[in-house]
Amino acid sequence: MFSYRHAFHAGNHADVLKHTTLIALMKYLTQKDTALTVIDTHAGAGLYRLDGDYTETSGEALEGVFKLFQAAKPPAVPNAKPKAATPKAAPADEVLAPALQDYLDVLRGLNPKFAESGDVAQLKIYPGSPFIEQQFLSGRDKLKLFELHPTDFKSLTGNIEQLGVGRQVSVAREDGFEVLKTFLPPPARRAMVLCDPSYEIKTDYGRVATCMADAVKRFATGTYVVWYPIIPRPEAHDLPRKLKTIATKSGRSWLNATLTVKSSKLTTDEAGDVVRPGLPASGMFVINPPHTLKAELQAALPQMVARLGQDRNAGFTLDHGS
Ligand code: SAM
Repeated sequence: MFSYRHAFHAGNHADVLKHTTLIALMKYLTQKDTALTVIDTHAGAGLYRLDGDYTETSGEALEGVFKLFQAAKPPAVPNAKPKAATPKAAPADEVLAPALQDYLDVLRGLNPKFAESGDVAQLKIYPGSPFIEQQFLSGRDKLKLFELHPTDFKSLTGNIEQLGVGRQVSVAREDGFEVLKTFLPPPARRAMVLCDPSYEIKTDYGRVATCMADAVKRFATGTYVVWYPIIPRPEAHDLPRKLKTIATKSGRSWLNATLTVKSSKLTTDEAGDVVRPGLPASGMFVINPPHTLKAELQAALPQMVARLGQDRNAGFTLDHGS
């Protein structure tokens, strides 16, 4: 069975890129009057505690969302060792890019004490993609969530039940890659799909490409959003290239945004042991992006780099095509 649990990674730099982009997409796509179907093929638990056991053990949020919005000290995390300091500290009074401001507003909505004080030590709850998506829906829209891990499925079900949103949001313990085709095309002919696997199984890379190719064939005008890790592995390297080919061959526009926070090189510690760097970078590939997304990310990505970059390899890319 799967060992990946998103709780260890909630609020890390990859979530910062993914969720900032997701919020910008949801905000734009829910402005229209026609119903939108949102399908989250790999939903996770929906909601995470930043002061819970998982997050504290990994401390990844310290190098992600806490660092991004540090107006004050992050909570003390005994097990986590913050790594190198940000090369260029962002000035405390810097005006946030609108997409990052929207991300901050979502976090404030879930963390009233943080909203009141601006103190990141009060940032206790972190929203996963289902909670972000749900926040933007109006009565006519639908959200379909899929999660295969039994524990995360149970947590997701409980977290969604608490929202009391009835049948607008459905949760199923099914394989998101397999089930997607059964929802396309959607009844109102407007859909956004988030495909965010853990990639713990090598075959996930190929399944993402196959699933997206099939989805675009079934419903060409949907907005398809794929998160992927940037790691030294051929499958990971090939995935954005394959997605670009899928988009261009079917005459669809695309956007690819990447955020690198540190070098991917292995290093050695004082004892001579090899130290793995952890995830150095990730990307968001969007097929049929709204025309506003590029400008939003163009403004937000340099601020992410300035605030989250850990060494001189930090940077971003933003490419698009039509
Ligand atoms: N999208 C979530 C978010 O942004 O908050 C995080 C999702 S996490 C990266 C990936 C999730 O996919 C894990 O919770 C894992 O258990 C689940 N998973 C793995 N394979 C799956 C599959 N074939 N179908 C559905 N869920 C799957």
